[in-house]
Amino acid sequence: MATELDIRPIKEWLPELNNPLLIAGPCSLETEEQAMDTARQLAKDPRVFGYRGGVWKPRTRPGSFEGIGSIGLEWLKMVKQETGLRVGTEVANAQHTEEALKAGLDILWIGARSTASPFVVQEIADVLKGTDATVMVKNPVNPDVQLWMGAFERLSRSGIKNMVGIHRGFTPFRETKYRNYPNWKTFIELRRLMPNLPVICDPSHIAGKREYLFEVAQKAFDMGMDGLMVESHRDPSCALSDAGQQLTPADLFKMLDKLVIRNVSV
Ligand code: PEP
Ligand code: MN
Repeated sequence: MATELDIRPIKEWLPELNNPLLIAGPCSLETEEQAMDTARQLAKDPRVFGYRGGVWKPRTRPGSFEGIGSIGLEWLKMVKQETGLRVGTEVANAQHTEEALKAGLDILWIGARSTASPFVVQEIADVLKGTDATVMVKNPVNPDVQLWMGAFERLSRSGIKNMVGIHRGFTPFRETKYRNYPNWKTFIELRRLMPNLPVICDPSHIAGKREYLFEVAQKAFDMGMDGLMVESHRDPSCALSDAGQQLTPADLFKMLDKLVIRNVSV
């Protein structure tokens, strides 16, 4: 069933945006220096609008780097102050959400594992009630468009109007060269059900490897998506998470030069 949510077009809440919505930054913030240096490099290209940096990391299995925690919010504030980039991070529970709001972040996003849990989404939506937060929602790890829509409905019931979908692929159910299976039909279905929802693509978590990023990003624009969230690290070989899929800022700019890009449509 289609849903008529009160969703604000991107151009209303980001009037200065005349490019597709491009958000870039490290998978994880690791040190102040890494966060700042990567941001300074990214900010040199006006095509980059927002800076992403994970501070609480949802690792599939324990035992690896799980994020730098709340101190990372201070670094995001510094990035914003120094570069003017809009800054955002992933929130996965009420406490993260409260802290991110208090830090004045511009964008919060709900990760794929969290979107799969209506309890988690509701908990986040309850904290956001009555705020004018901008919330991006990644697709759930499983290709369930109703579950994805349900997250937008929960946020909408809390009065959230600045919402964006992020297609980051689905846990593969058959052999694929990609880390996560890009089911473009799910995007088409979401657009049919929620025609006014801006949707961007996260080619990094779909591709899983740098070499496939370009083809996934191009496909996203060819399908009519409104932008990209791309992982970029000043030195991907040393990254504490997702090392194989991150691009240096310079390589990201080269990829952008090659892409045939459309502007935001919703
Ligand atoms: C991320 O953006 O670093 C991340 C953990 O993504 P996802 O929720 O898509 O797995
Ligand atoms: Mn990542």
